[in-house]
Amino acid sequence: MQPNDIAMVYGNDPSGMTRKLLDHCGIAESLSKTAYIVLKPNLVIAATADGGATTHPEIVEAVIRYFKDHGFANISIVESAWVGDSTARAFKVHGYERLVEEYGITLVDVKKDSYTTIEAHGFAIEISDTIMDSDFLISLPVLKGHCQTTMTCALKNMKGCISDRSKRQFHSWGLHDPIAALNTVRKADLVLVDSLNGDLDFEEGGNPVQTNRMFAGRDSVLVDTFGASLMGFETSEIPYIEIAEEFGVGSTDLASANIVELNRDTTGAPYRPSGRVHELEDYTVASSACSACYGNLIHALARLDERGILSDLNQKIHIGQDYKGKTGCGLGVGICTNGFTRSVPGCPPKALDIVKFIEKHIQD
Ligand code: SF4
Repeated sequence: MQPNDIAMVYGNDPSGMTRKLLDHCGIAESLSKTAYIVLKPNLVIAATADGGATTHPEIVEAVIRYFKDHGFANISIVESAWVGDSTARAFKVHGYERLVEEYGITLVDVKKDSYTTIEAHGFAIEISDTIMDSDFLISLPVLKGHCQTTMTCALKNMKGCISDRSKRQFHSWGLHDPIAALNTVRKADLVLVDSLNGDLDFEEGGNPVQTNRMFAGRDSVLVDTFGASLMGFETSEIPYIEIAEEFGVGSTDLASANIVELNRDTTGAPYRPSGRVHELEDYTVASSACSACYGNLIHALARLDERGILSDLNQKIHIGQDYKGKTGCGLGVGICTNGFTRSVPGCPPKALDIVKFIEKHIQD
């Protein structure tokens, strides 16, 4: 897998999807069997993955099984919950103790690890020694909203690799610059993004948006740039992504990315969405919509709402496979609705493209 490659897979089987991505990336063949493999999930809080905040445990187990199947023995899960929550409790909630027994891996709570203080771009950061000792670091972030940095994915997931004292300092330093700086010290060697049902706008979850997809890449900056577009954001709206590019961590050049879809989305939109997602549904007329397509529309509507222009939308948006081959008046999302008066192309279209499409309609 090259740095400009991104592989995407759809479905509702996290274990099988993870294996498909790893087989595609061919990572095991490029590593020594004695390599120390470290998995860094997102366990910001001790809550199950269905809330949209934490990495699905089946993804973590599938990565371990992949490396075990390829003869690797030295594997750890390394993480720390946010300041004030217990990592041990998060490990328990996600069933990691069974993984220790079944696969002989180790769990490392960064809050209890030793640290090395490393200067980067003017910031003195206490980073976990286990993370620095890893030969191959796999980041397993959740693509979701964040109340302070707008969104979080690969670059920000590294914040779980530092001491609680450094985490507090990151907030006083404004988050964006130190997040980018941290990734110059140690960045992920591979990123497998859990984009199954990341939260609409909050890192703690509560408003999960079902999108039933995962994607992989080796450049954390490119992965985050792509993730931002899936959530309906311009890269410039997430300062730490562009700062990380300035610091040489990776590239935001999505136009030059080689994006490969390993399958098609055949999963349906959620039957009972929760909270704010349910409110945004009032702007849609869905009929057999694929979940990633529908999730992108929900993200786009949320972005327009945050800009205060959603209430100017004077009609509902059609989406779904039942509109294939049909003509209709009004707005549609995806190639299934290309017979409508106005339709945004793509299968599925990115949330950012949907945002621009609806904005233009409102302006016209
Ligand atoms: S355009 Fe149609 S087929 Fe394609 S993802 Fe959307 S609903 Fe599914």
